[in-house]
Amino acid sequence: MFDRGIEIKTPEQIAVMRAAGLVVGETLELLRSSVAAGMTTRELDVIAHDHIRSRGATSNFLGYHGFTGVICTSVNDEVVHGIPGARVLRDGDIVSIDCGAIVDGWHGDAAITVAIGQVPDDVIELMRVTEDAMWSGIAAARLGGRVSDISHAIETAVMGAGDYGIVEGYTGHGIGSEMHQPPDVHNYGKPRRGAKLVKGLALAVEPMVTLGTSDTRRLDDDWTVVTTDGSWAAHFENTFTLTDGGAWVLTALDGGRERLEALGVPYGGD
Ligand code: MG
Ligand code: MG
Repeated sequence: MFDRGIEIKTPEQIAVMRAAGLVVGETLELLRSSVAAGMTTRELDVIAHDHIRSRGATSNFLGYHGFTGVICTSVNDEVVHGIPGARVLRDGDIVSIDCGAIVDGWHGDAAITVAIGQVPDDVIELMRVTEDAMWSGIAAARLGGRVSDISHAIETAVMGAGDYGIVEGYTGHGIGSEMHQPPDVHNYGKPRRGAKLVKGLALAVEPMVTLGTSDTRRLDDDWTVVTTDGSWAAHFENTFTLTDGGAWVLTALDGGRERLEALGVPYGGD
């Protein structure tokens, strides 16, 4: 069912989205524990594809507008949409891994940034700030609130943490029977704007934060988004919904319980 362009899911449909979200969450944890210096990004893609298939799910990234991977792998100054390939990961790199899966027609979408070996403290801090901002955004969502409450919480968390760039031109999004649906979930903005947060809504929240500029450009491969100043970027994403109990993070293995409770927010999962 759609309400003003926004897909409202039944509890049964959300349960299938949870199944898809778990496949995504498991795949990302598998990749986090597998990634190592000397591997190519294509090897990560193969691991992801094998796991998604082993769970009876399918990839929503593969073939999306011609995309050739089941994950996006974005290294260092690459922000998002990097194509898995022959690039060899080296000690001191960071890689953002974005992954999605479909179960019975319902989508999950999530991303993590992982350090390979030793990386500088400011890069570790960038990753922490970006992940914390994602959780702050999810924690700001309440039934009856508005989409930009999430955006404002992300911006407040990032700007309160130091001198960072929030990437412009790329946003989170509604998700359900398609990967990308209305509404856009911006990573900055005033609160109390945009679509109302209601039961059955599902959103992917995905801040992209840099150690420098907010500006990006796309490489000649037509996919890879890089910072214009070469500064490194982190990207974290989760898909979540709201129930009467609170927030339920469909792509987190624990449903988001630990992080939400640490933020003093009720956990709305089963
Ligand atoms: Mg994603
Ligand atoms: Mg997304």
